[in-house]
Amino acid sequence: MRKVIVLGAGLTGLSAAFHLRRYGVDPVVLEREEVVGGACRTLEQDGFAFDLTGHLLHLGREESRRLVTELGIARRLRSLARRAGIAVAGTVTPYPIQINTHRLPPAIRRECLLGALVAREQPEAPQSGPFADWALSRFGEGLCRLFFFPYNQKLFCAEARDFTAAWVGRFVPRPRLEDLVDGALGLFRQPVGYNATFLYPRQGGIRLLADTLAQHVPGLRLGSTVRRLHLRERALELASGETLGWETLIATVPLSHLCRMTDDLPPGPRAAATRLRAVAVVNLNLGVEGPPPRREHWLYVPEARFPFYRIGFPSNHGKVAPPGCHTLSVEVSVPAGTPAPPDVWGRCLDGLEELGLLRRERIATRLEARVDPGYVVFDAALESAVSTLREAFAAAGVRLAGRWASWKYSAMEDALLDGAKVAEEVAP
Ligand SMILES: Cc1cc2nc3c(=O)[nH]c(=O)nc-3n(C[C@H](O)[C@H](O)[C@H](O)COP(=O)(O)OP(=O)(O)OC[C@H]3O[C@@H](n4cnc5c(N)ncnc54)[C@H](O)[C@@H]3O)c2cc1C
Repeated sequence: MRKVIVLGAGLTGLSAAFHLRRYGVDPVVLEREEVVGGACRTLEQDGFAFDLTGHLLHLGREESRRLVTELGIARRLRSLARRAGIAVAGTVTPYPIQINTHRLPPAIRRECLLGALVAREQPEAPQSGPFADWALSRFGEGLCRLFFFPYNQKLFCAEARDFTAAWVGRFVPRPRLEDLVDGALGLFRQPVGYNATFLYPRQGGIRLLADTLAQHVPGLRLGSTVRRLHLRERALELASGETLGWETLIATVPLSHLCRMTDDLPPGPRAAATRLRAVAVVNLNLGVEGPPPRREHWLYVPEARFPFYRIGFPSNHGKVAPPGCHTLSVEVSVPAGTPAPPDVWGRCLDGLEELGLLRRERIATRLEARVDPGYVVFDAALESAVSTLREAFAAAGVRLAGRWASWKYSAMEDALLDGAKVAEEVAP
């Protein structure tokens, strides 16, 4: 039987292993942590369940819905209609802002609507170019000034000219003319976008998905950190000193880390690895006494004076707190590999209080978490860098799969499907 190793037991690695078994292959799955799930983990503390960062499940494809049914967890997931907002200009307006300007002060609403109408007269700039040009051509000056520039600059820790719009795909809906007008008048009512509805476990947090998949993966080895790869020998070395050889290695760990741990990456790919840019997400989870302060599932916060770009209210979508309490999550972006600024959590608490979302004395517990890398920063050099690296690893039987190994912007559903796809490709 071919020796297949899966590196990482996040959703991609677990899905790959789950699907490989259908082809009669039982891979070894090496996971550094003592728990599965990667970015889709839930941590428990003082009776609260905190997802590492906000994670809501969108299943747009029949195959992934079938998988969830097959895993027997469909009834443990609640389907919810998204309630998301944008906290800006002293108010909260529903998401997406481009079709919900009606809650904004009249002068700003006018600026947004006029800008969007002027933009419609120009051709749309390509997504492969600077995000600033693409966003201006799609949404106009008002919406860019208010939301698209400050929000994305905060998220990607870079100027809007310094990254491309190559990631926007299904994530940023394009409004029709009548939707813009209805949105300014408060008439727009239809659900919009890939995440208009989502699923979330009724209780216990998002870990349900990974935990259930893991029950079908007998070759799982937790607490197994891979320290080095030797491509020529097709062998990897664990932190314990143990060495394992592969015929096929399915790598789901971040591509930047994979390059660092590879001893004999040729000079061309080694240079390509220096072009991978990303930000890390640091997340402050709070367990708080009392009911949630708002009805939304999450709020986007574009203004630069607040350190966070998003606030989540997980108690509005699942049972994750003891009776009489709720949870809040506050996400901040920092350049990958760098620590959060020392005063950041104090500033976050100040910001939450200013927005009327928290009273400090009600905090029952707090937990900081980090996903690094969190978001890939797209630029003109990225595509060729990733394809150079993909080829170099493929030559040694290493397949890159999932969000961070493929260095892309994608969701949990994609991770499940990426795992299924790579399993099919490497199966005998
Ligand atoms: C802030 C944020 C919010 C998100 N929100 C959503 C959302 O709401 N909905 C949604 O669908 N998706 C969301 N996503 C995307 C989702 O998290 C990813 O698509 C998915 O988790 C990718 O899974 P993966 O298995 O590819 O990677 P990972 O989850 O990173 O798995 C990789 C695994 O490899 C392990 N590993 C790393 N290094 C080593 C090593 N040296 N040795 C052994 N093991 C190692 C890690 O511990 C990890 O378990 C979000 C992502 C972020 C960053």
